[in-house]
Amino acid sequence: MSTITGKTNLVGLLGQPVNHSLSPIMHNAAYEEMGLDWCYLAMPCESKNLEKVTKSLRCLDFKGLNITIPHKQEVLKACNKLTEVANDIQAVNTLIPEKNHQWIGANTDVEGFLTPLKSQNLINSNVVVIGCGGSARAVVMGLNSLNIKKITIVGRDESSLDIFVKTMRNLLSKRLISIEGINYKKLNVSPYIEEADLIINSTPIGMNIKNTSKENVPLGNDIWNCLSKKTILYDLIYTPRPTNWLKIGQQKNCFTIDGLDMLVEQGAFSIRLWSGFNDVPVQIMKSSAEKHLMN
Ligand code: NAP
Repeated sequence: MSTITGKTNLVGLLGQPVNHSLSPIMHNAAYEEMGLDWCYLAMPCESKNLEKVTKSLRCLDFKGLNITIPHKQEVLKACNKLTEVANDIQAVNTLIPEKNHQWIGANTDVEGFLTPLKSQNLINSNVVVIGCGGSARAVVMGLNSLNIKKITIVGRDESSLDIFVKTMRNLLSKRLISIEGINYKKLNVSPYIEEADLIINSTPIGMNIKNTSKENVPLGNDIWNCLSKKTILYDLIYTPRPTNWLKIGQQKNCFTIDGLDMLVEQGAFSIRLWSGFNDVPVQIMKSSAEKHLMN
């Protein structure tokens, strides 16, 4: 990275924890390649300080902020305006500076999620989403733009599943997509897996598993015996690469996508919003993140 001077523009990430974040690595690699005198910092922030910190960083003329777990919903209060997507999804991962020391809240997770699916034809397809947490919102919102036939949300907890499905039905009420929730502790999900064209894992199951055993696979190992090779598997996790679940898909000759492209693409979309430059070196961002993950 080039020297930080009094003229360097500051951007960064607020979350808790942030010490393992790949964002500083890939953002700073992009700024260097773009010839921008910018520096990206990862800043741990507790929920109780979020409003104060976002206000202060705006006063310090930060050129943009990314927001991660656990603040993506809480940060809405710190925004003067929201983009349409952030408003639809009621979650913000990017703050863009506005006049009068204000922030605009945006969400680039949706576009980040969609980019690796761009080459796939998913019109009229059946999609299964495993998990119903924060990232599943961005996933469902993104899927809504793809003219798919049906989304089945598979979860373990009746009440969080119910709340998620109701919330998403409300948010998507203007659209025609069919969305239903299935509790895999109570119902057999094999028929849904068998007919799925695309399955997305939005749970942390399989994350940071060092060994190569087939443990820690969403919904358990046995269910994947009925997986068809036509099904695309998309895991939002990017450590390890591939996850044990994606390995099962690869053995069945399924097309698989891991979470690194989504991570890189949501970062690239943030840079576009902050800098106004459309041409962001996505490949440099990805290779710097991959290099860091290998160490
Ligand atoms: P989250 O809000 O905590 O949601 C996690 C979901 O997984 C919840 O529905 C939770 O169910 C379910 N879950 C957790 N542990 C489970 C288990 N052992 N068995 C069954 N279900 C389980 O998390 P998130 O923010 O959505 O993130 C989820 C994963 O996506 C993480 O691994 C994260 O790193 C990854 N992610 C990647 C990107 C990217 O750019 N690639 C972006 C965002 C997230 P309950 O409601 O029952 O607890």
